[in-house]
Amino acid sequence: ALEVSELSHSFGSLDVLSDISLRVGQGEFVSIVGPSGSGKSTLFHLVGGLLKPTAGKISIGGEDAVGRRGLIGYMPQAPALMPWRTIEDNVVLARELGGVRKKEARGLAREWLSKVGLDGFARSYPHQLSGGMQQRVAFLRALLADKELICLDEPFSALDAMLRAEMHRWLLDIWEQNRRSILFVTHSIEEALLLSDSVYVFTRRPATVLERVEVPFDRPRRDEVV
Ligand code: ATP
Ligand code: MG
Repeated sequence: ALEVSELSHSFGSLDVLSDISLRVGQGEFVSIVGPSGSGKSTLFHLVGGLLKPTAGKISIGGEDAVGRRGLIGYMPQAPALMPWRTIEDNVVLARELGGVRKKEARGLAREWLSKVGLDGFARSYPHQLSGGMQQRVAFLRALLADKELICLDEPFSALDAMLRAEMHRWLLDIWEQNRRSILFVTHSIEEALLLSDSVYVFTRRPATVLERVEVPFDRPRRDEVV
């Protein structure tokens, strides 16, 4: 689904990514772990078309994706909801823009909003929700965007352990239902091993891929995730 080859990026004289190659196969769940400041979010900005790389190639679904926005479901590290839109609109807009029928998109949004404990908030606005609630909305927006690749940038880092465990379950639920490809950034090697098929380890800046580790055990069954 995603193929990144020999990708490098610099901000002026600051070299952030150096010769990164990685791939996420169709339906695969791949994590990236690496030190703070190594360039993980920058990689996502490049994959999401928000930045153009200094060098290298990015393809999504076999197509050149350099500088192209709108190809991925994306949850940024600091997710921004659209304050002027309702919660439900925040969740479904990307999906509707992706061409899914409106009624179907809204039905799915309602179903998932209630599963993640946001029943009754569909018509609210982001400022009426807590930080953790807004995070769940941004999470659903990325996952339900109906894109072949979903990029999640430390989606659970600010959550308490209980909510994080629940979000793990929802993530695996949605992923098992529609088998989109997932690229997941986390600081927690444990979380990466728990959720994914393979893990890329980045070095310090300028980041290179240190290693791709295939996770050598089965993902826990959903009811075992804690
Ligand atoms: P963290 O784990 O803390 O989120 P990260 O691996 O996501 O870190 P990035 O946010 O990609 O790291 O930042 C990598 C480096 O690039 C940092 O030194 C940062 O200061 C620099 N950087 C990021 N964005 C820009 C920008 N738009 N302009 C200049 N420098 C930038
Ligand atoms: Mg980051």
